[in-house]
Amino acid sequence: MYPYGMSNHKLAKAIADMGFYEFRRQLEYKCELYGSELVVVDRWFPSSKTCSKCGQVKQSLSLSERVFDCEHCGFSCDRDLNASLNLAMAVSESYAPLTRTSVTARGAG
Ligand SMILES: [Zn+2]
Repeated sequence: MYPYGMSNHKLAKAIADMGFYEFRRQLEYKCELYGSELVVVDRWFPSSKTCSKCGQVKQSLSLSERVFDCEHCGFSCDRDLNASLNLAMAVSESYAPLTRTSVTARGAG
């Protein structure tokens, strides 16, 4: 029972996309309000597949793999922590695949 012949998968994606759009809009609004810089990482940045220690990128990493194990340097840590470390490093000025949205505080903040 999905409108316009939408599959369950497509409907889920549409809802997810709308959710992230709203989330992004709220982030931009809050950053502007508080004069913060919003750094947007490229949507294809492989934050989960990249080793946060040596930078090696895995060809595949299934969602069921909760621990990141690097075959290159032997580094092992929680999958989400590894991705978080990569995103934290991506915020550094020199990192290329991201968009910087600078917002300036209004008023005397
Ligand atoms: Zn590694």
